[in-house]
Amino acid sequence: MLEGMPTPGANETLATRALTTFEEDETLFSQSVYEFADREIRPLVRSMDEQGSIPRSLIDKLFDHGVMGIEIPEAHGGAGASFFHAILGIEALARVDPSIAALVDVQNTLVINAVMRYGGDDLKERYLPRLGSSAVGAYALSEAGSGSDAFALSSHAVESPDGFILNGRKLWITNGNEADVFIVFASVNLDAGYRGITAFVVERDFPGFTVGKKEDKLGIRASSTCELLLEDCQVPRANVLGEIGKGYKVAIETLNEGRIGIGAQMIGLTQGALDHAIAYTKERRQFGKAVADFQGVQFQLAQAATELEAARLTVYNAARLRVAGEPFLKEAAMCKLYTSEVAERVTSLAVNLFGGYGFVKDYPVEKLYRDAKIGQIYEGTSNLQLQTIAKQILG
Ligand SMILES: Cc1cc2nc3c(=O)[nH]c(=O)nc-3n(C[C@H](O)[C@H](O)[C@H](O)COP(=O)(O)OP(=O)(O)OC[C@H]3O[C@@H](n4cnc5c(N)ncnc54)[C@H](O)[C@@H]3O)c2cc1C
Repeated sequence: MLEGMPTPGANETLATRALTTFEEDETLFSQSVYEFADREIRPLVRSMDEQGSIPRSLIDKLFDHGVMGIEIPEAHGGAGASFFHAILGIEALARVDPSIAALVDVQNTLVINAVMRYGGDDLKERYLPRLGSSAVGAYALSEAGSGSDAFALSSHAVESPDGFILNGRKLWITNGNEADVFIVFASVNLDAGYRGITAFVVERDFPGFTVGKKEDKLGIRASSTCELLLEDCQVPRANVLGEIGKGYKVAIETLNEGRIGIGAQMIGLTQGALDHAIAYTKERRQFGKAVADFQGVQFQLAQAATELEAARLTVYNAARLRVAGEPFLKEAAMCKLYTSEVAERVTSLAVNLFGGYGFVKDYPVEKLYRDAKIGQIYEGTSNLQLQTIAKQILG
């Protein structure tokens, strides 16, 4: 057996299924989300990008379509589907608008995932039905001074007779503008380092909680990115998520899974850019023929399609491993690293293939090029993914 090769027969389902072969319900789900995105989201993409916001009416439609609570069990009012469905949903949405994919990704792979995995019965009963039907969620770990070194956070929580009093500031929080429910990480003992970190479920109207400045960004402009202020914010004891002092585990495990969601966002937007590039080059004529008839252009498109295929396999592989309960840490890091590189390259090519029209906002590819950049930054920068991969291969 060669070093690094998967063990045959370790998991029958994994061993016998091609990564791109779906169950019927997975195919139907992916198609229905893409058709929804094409019909309901595509007409709004440009105005949402310009205005830097998502209309509440569209968020309501996302709830109605069942993409805001994909993994929530039916008993709690959700769709009762799998993590793989969530990945397919994010991919299908990102093909049309990576900003909407970001909103749905955080809702499913971070917030709902954390509540389902770490919440007791009480938290699940109180929050899962809301998260699946009307409440947007956000996940607040980063601070001004702690990004890659997330566990150096300085927000802190002090015990009070009713629960905890939180103070601090969170930065870069996706969905901050729309969210009703926030998973907030703060330390109960700053001297204990990562061992003090605790996760809390905080509601927008809890006393002492305010959503601050919204960032003006390069890409995924419709997705809100906000500062959160915790000023003697009162959180009931029942809203501690997981164990006190074990919030670092909540963060590590949900972010490992969240990275596969970012991979799905990246392959969706890459597919979107390639779709546009293929359609445009078949139509645009120069030197008396379609631009797509030039072999130089054909080879560029073929290269892009090949890289996208390889990127997609890293996403599906990591997601299938996660669903099967197999280790996937290295594969998720590789997936985020590689898909975000491919997204940058292919969206850049799409801009090139549109010529001057690629550089203006009347055509969709300049936006996808801007949107692609975030894949190398959030949920762990590319350097941090390389660090994870290096640790895994070096032992
Ligand atoms: C649009 C957007 C949405 C976001 N959404 C959320 C959210 O919902 N919730 C949340 O908690 N956070 C969120 N973030 C924060 C995001 O996760 C951080 O920005 C990211 O982890 C990087 O942290 P930083 O910005 O502090 O950069 P830094 O950590 O300061 O990194 C700066 C540079 O140094 C490099 N670097 C740092 N450490 C090392 C090292 N050890 N080895 C090699 N290179 C290193 C990095 O790769 C990077 O190139 C979001 C950010 C953005 C921009």
